[in-house]
Amino acid sequence: MSEWSKAIGGFTGGKGAVETTSGNRGLQIEEPLIFEQGQDGRCGVDLPALPKSAERLGGLARKGAIGLPGLSEPQVVRHYTRLSQKNYAIDAGLYPLGSCTMKHNPRLNEKMARLPGFGDVHPLQPVSTVQGALELIDTLAHWLKIMTGMPAVAMSPAAGAHGELCGMLCIRAAHIARKQDHRRRVLVPESAHGTNPATAAVCGYTVDSIPADAEGRVDLAAFKAKLGPDVAAIMLTNPNTCGLFERDIIEIAKAIHGAGGYFYCDGANFNAIVGRVRPGDLGIDCMHINLHKTFSTPHGGGGPGAGPVVLSAALAPFAPVPWVVHGKDGYAVAEQSGAGNEAFGRLKAFHGQMGMFVRALAYMMSHGADGLRQVAEDAVLNANYLMARLKDDLTPAFPGPTMHEALFDDRFLKDTGVTTLDFAKALIDEGYHPMTMYFPLVVHGALLIEPTETESRESLDQFIEVCSALARRAKTANDAQAWFHDAPRYTPRRRLDETAAARKPVLRWKPEVPAKAAE
Ligand SMILES: *Cc1c(COP(=O)(O)O)cnc(C)c1O
Repeated sequence: MSEWSKAIGGFTGGKGAVETTSGNRGLQIEEPLIFEQGQDGRCGVDLPALPKSAERLGGLARKGAIGLPGLSEPQVVRHYTRLSQKNYAIDAGLYPLGSCTMKHNPRLNEKMARLPGFGDVHPLQPVSTVQGALELIDTLAHWLKIMTGMPAVAMSPAAGAHGELCGMLCIRAAHIARKQDHRRRVLVPESAHGTNPATAAVCGYTVDSIPADAEGRVDLAAFKAKLGPDVAAIMLTNPNTCGLFERDIIEIAKAIHGAGGYFYCDGANFNAIVGRVRPGDLGIDCMHINLHKTFSTPHGGGGPGAGPVVLSAALAPFAPVPWVVHGKDGYAVAEQSGAGNEAFGRLKAFHGQMGMFVRALAYMMSHGADGLRQVAEDAVLNANYLMARLKDDLTPAFPGPTMHEALFDDRFLKDTGVTTLDFAKALIDEGYHPMTMYFPLVVHGALLIEPTETESRESLDQFIEVCSALARRAKTANDAQAWFHDAPRYTPRRRLDETAAARKPVLRWKPEVPAKAAE
């Protein structure tokens, strides 16, 4: 084991950890940094000696070595293969990360995205050569409008948070056009994802937080009391991040409109209602759709996102360029705002995340209308099954049924000395990626579990049994606190100093100064 590995605590050490001579554990290899493996002069390819050339940099040419690690090809391949095997992924097991909708990504999507006409398309190609790609964007846009019951959609945003920026900039542009730019307050429920207040702030708004009621939904009276002539919008998530449908949503829409504001809906949780509820019928003005959540496609560490924003008639004229239009010679791309629209600008180079569009449309078409409806139904069924079976061992944050995710708080850990974090670490030892922890902020020590519709009954049962067993252990074992604090035991790294990692990240490897040079 290298000095470096020892310093940050490799496999060895700690109660319950197995010591090996090599530091490896089973076929999990203790992997030094690529710089530590490198040796001067070693190289994966044969390069010819450089011919002598005249000095043209006025003496500024680098004198020392460039500092790249010298490695053979097999060393490089092994290094990155081993690192990739340390990744946890939805393809490896249950990924119950609440709010993230980590569902199975059908391989058909991948096959479609790799078709040369989609995979190799270049955004600067002449429009006449990319008619199929434009048709695909247009078709996807059509279905997004149908599914949400909204008249327009901006396709270019590259993620949910980017979609929020798009939507709030549309709202800002609409207020400016109506000479209402003095409206600078945005109402955001306490349970909102952090990107909501962050987006409002980036757009120059002040954020005014709306409290939750005892049931985890927006406190309607508190919301109404906050309305006024300076309110620009409300940003509401539905179903919300407590996994609950906002029952008063139609009344909320009426009230915000009555007060002259717009209704932004965070649509990250669309998976719970797709095919069953059209957000347009609820009175919202704009909503981003995380294609990478609701319509599958790898995300998080696994790939980019896409966050198209559906818009009401009031906001549609302000949508950013570009958009696909039906010209007389087929599809064309509108790049400038023109008659009847006042695009707030351009949000992204080119048209959006083409690969994600292909995957999302493949997902929609292979499911069909009935299949998409069933997605929402099964996602809700799975979450409620989990809630029903865990409600006695864990403590549900709010009573009653849930939508697509089950929210628990840490009351079940009271007086045990075990925290939500400890519980999550113990889950890792059991082979599970933890749920979302400490979010939403409206409940203490939150554990937010979103199983998604793609988990089988057996897979849910196994996970439930592990959670129940851990909860019972926390409550009854004499050594519970010490035992949980010691987890995880079986991971390549144990507990890291997460605060130091966030505050003082070591982003650069520096060679150890040779003893001689240091003198
Ligand atoms: C995931 C998520 C977002 C942000 O989406 P990204 O694609 O990660 O930028 C916003 N709101 C909620 C509720 C989310 O779950």
